[in-house]
Amino acid sequence: MTQSILIVDDQKANLVALEATLAELENVEIIAATSGPEALSILLKKSVAMVLLDVQMPGMDGFEVASYMRQRAKTRHTPIIFLTAINKEDGYLFKGYESGGVDFLFKPFDPFVLLCKVRVFLELDGQRRQLEDALKKLNQVKTSNEVLLRSVGEGIIGVCLRGTITFVNPAAEMILGIHGASLIGQPLFDTVIVTTQDSLAINWQETKLYQACAQGRAYHTDVGAFRAHHNNLLPVEYTASPTHSPSGQFDGAVIVFKDVTERKKIEEQMHFMAQYDALTELGNRNLFNSALNNSITFSDHSGHSFALLFMDLDRFKQVNDTLGHDAGDELLKEVAKRVRACIRDTDQLCRLGGDEFTIIINGESSERASIRVSEKLIHSLSQPFEIFGQELYVGASVGIVYYPQMGKDASELIRNADMAMYQAKHEGRNRYRVFEQDMKVQVEESMALEVELRRAVENMDFQLHYQPKFDMRSRQIVGAEALIRWTLSGKPVSPGLFIPLAEETGLIDSIGRWVFETAASKAREWASRFHLPAGFRMSINLSVQQLQDPRLVETMSEFLQQARIPAQLLELEITENLFLERTKINLENLAGIRALGAGIALDDFGTGYSSMGYLAQLPLTVLKIDKTFVDDVEEPQGTAIISAVVALARGLGVEVVAEGVEHADQAERLTELGCITAQGFYFSKPLPPHELEVLLQQQFQLAQSPPLDEAAGGGH
Ligand code: C2E
Ligand code: MG
Ligand code: MG
Repeated sequence: MTQSILIVDDQKANLVALEATLAELENVEIIAATSGPEALSILLKKSVAMVLLDVQMPGMDGFEVASYMRQRAKTRHTPIIFLTAINKEDGYLFKGYESGGVDFLFKPFDPFVLLCKVRVFLELDGQRRQLEDALKKLNQVKTSNEVLLRSVGEGIIGVCLRGTITFVNPAAEMILGIHGASLIGQPLFDTVIVTTQDSLAINWQETKLYQACAQGRAYHTDVGAFRAHHNNLLPVEYTASPTHSPSGQFDGAVIVFKDVTERKKIEEQMHFMAQYDALTELGNRNLFNSALNNSITFSDHSGHSFALLFMDLDRFKQVNDTLGHDAGDELLKEVAKRVRACIRDTDQLCRLGGDEFTIIINGESSERASIRVSEKLIHSLSQPFEIFGQELYVGASVGIVYYPQMGKDASELIRNADMAMYQAKHEGRNRYRVFEQDMKVQVEESMALEVELRRAVENMDFQLHYQPKFDMRSRQIVGAEALIRWTLSGKPVSPGLFIPLAEETGLIDSIGRWVFETAASKAREWASRFHLPAGFRMSINLSVQQLQDPRLVETMSEFLQQARIPAQLLELEITENLFLERTKINLENLAGIRALGAGIALDDFGTGYSSMGYLAQLPLTVLKIDKTFVDDVEEPQGTAIISAVVALARGLGVEVVAEGVEHADQAERLTELGCITAQGFYFSKPLPPHELEVLLQQQFQLAQSPPLDEAAGGGH
């Protein structure tokens, strides 16, 4: 190993003499400089074992060079021997030592003394270098450890026995979003660690982490929480391992941790999915079941009762069937939104599936609250929905039960709430019912009715009765309305009861088709048998659901053509209470019916909520004034309404028909008010066809020959 010595003197002769003396040393390279700046510039590039430095030099003297050397890390510890010719005073020596020199030699120097001193310094330098090499190797180990600690993705925090943070790796800084420097020296417990399991610990030594490590065990948890940036709690998984001093004493811990936010998110999502309905984000059946059981347990303890509401949409199936599932989904989301707005945060709203929703209302005044909520719900859901640009009317029926009065356990409560809801639906929808014991019988009856209705539909076990319409002045029959009749075990079942049931179950499609074909055929038969007056029309009721069928007009026209029935003989009645207003299919169907040549009557006029603007859009030919207004026709207010309707009809250019006329006085008053055509028990009840045929025969005599095929546009 070659060592270098720098010799600095402004006198060339001195340099030569020094070089000659030092030439005796083996493996030593001598570098010479003739000024302070030259010496410093050599020291910048080269590291030397020692410097022999002349004190008196022009410009920069030796002390100045020494003090520059002491300012640089690389040369701070390089030994310097000052060479000086003058002033052996203490003060002068002191200045030399102060500047960092380590020895003096006085000119003219003794070569032997010089060589001795130089040898000592060279030996020291050799030792220093060996030490440095060893340290470097040692440091390499340390550095590679550090590199390791710095590069792993897991956070690592070291703590001492007292729980004070001694080390934080960059990953830990990054995960926590906190500068390591601000953590060092802080207590781990409470600054970083806040696990739920350790919520009972009040100091470091009570933490499970400490206790495990103190016993020489590692501590692991995958549900830890660390305090991160801004005091945010970060879900972490961590392992703490004890560390030991060289003598084997437990002296702290190393905590290796991972941010498990992503995993937590997935877990939470899975948990959410198991408990919540993805479409509406409401609780699902699972959540409902546990919430119901919780409420029962709580009620048993507190003595307070709670309310359970079952809600079902009134026309969901129709929306799904006619507008598609996307529209159905959209509607459910909107419904969920509205329902949420009707309840308090503490009420538990769930969707069991389909269009079935449940609400649990806890608390002392749950009974009163349940009624208030039901009223709000029904009002809110009867407002039109706008789904994919279409306006829909839906409505809801609600069944209510109270625990413990109306069911001893969850399953009985659910059964009874469902029953109350069914009953509400059955009573005409858009209403709520609180469970009553005798509902069971009623509901069982209506369930049985559904079974019977299906059976009746299979055999089309229905009849049509016909109620004639009269011109009140001439008492002439000007048309008839076909009304369906169903007899079950010898007793008539009201269409007001089974038509909604048929709509609910979808049976209305086949029933409606049968009604249309039977009534249209009857109209053709009468037209061929009797000299019916011009404008005689057979009125056929259309259910809203039929009106949504995109193939309605096509099937009607196919049937009429095939059976050679002129559409002019027919008038289709739609109820004002349309659930879909202004929808494309609706208006297209109405326009299609008109294009065929059939009339369109708006039935039960006055009971719905049609705006004038809306009425004007419909291709109507007739307004049928509802019986409720006819009943009031002798009262001043009734008079006003009828007059208004008559005026409106004139304005729209449509006919008016009064429904449900039961007395002569009513007929008279209606005529005075300008309403000429009427239908009602006063003139005739709905009759089986053969009975009406007797009347038709009286009024119009038998036709000599059926004139109909020409009218139908066909011919033999
Ligand atoms: P609507 O279309 O308004 O039919 C008139 C209802 O009033 C009929 O009841 C009729 O019997 C009754 N009515 C007529 N004159 C009087 C009267 O002077 N006094 C009283 N109190 N009632 C009178 P019905 O036959 O029970 O039908 C009830 C409803 O069922 C109908 O109301 C209609 O909406 C529906 N409906 C009947 N047949 C069919 C059908 O074939 N298809 C469809 N979709 N619905 C039908
Ligand atoms: Mg009708
Ligand atoms: Mg009516």
